[in-house]
Amino acid sequence: MAHPTDPNCIFCKIVAGTIPCFRLHDDAQTIAFMDINPANEGHALSVAKGHWPTVHDIPADVLGAVAQTAQRVSKAVHKTLNPEGINLIQANGPGAAQSVPHLHIHVLPRWKTDNLAINWHPSPGDMAKIKALHERILANMG
Ligand code: AMP
Ligand code: ZN
Repeated sequence: MAHPTDPNCIFCKIVAGTIPCFRLHDDAQTIAFMDINPANEGHALSVAKGHWPTVHDIPADVLGAVAQTAQRVSKAVHKTLNPEGINLIQANGPGAAQSVPHLHIHVLPRWKTDNLAINWHPSPGDMAKIKALHERILANMG
């Protein structure tokens, strides 16, 4: 199925396979992978395969598919890390701190003491740690 794409978009490049990711899920409409600048351990993203920047642009059925993938990933993250909570977060536009204008839902494990603000400051994660978590979460994808 043909999706809209943007050759300059980092998530379109991941969908096309031209840059790598720690993949957790792949279907006709969506892909999910580990966030490489995790706000917390186990931070993952459910991403539309097509390039639609925001919730206002994406077809409703594709948004539904991205939500279903987020649910699947969230269950696996929950099973793997047993965090005290999980936020599903989806940003639209610079005022909402959206840094990649290609629709995605964050699956963000939370702990009561993590003091995480909704506008966290992304910084590069430890790739070995992300790789190890990827393997553990993938094993729980069901
Ligand atoms: P947002 O700021 O809501 O648009 O979220 C974009 C997310 O994509 C951030 O949490 C980034 O850390 C993440 N991100 C950016 N580039 C990559 C990449 N190559 N692989 C995985 N995650 C990425
Ligand atoms: Zn894109």
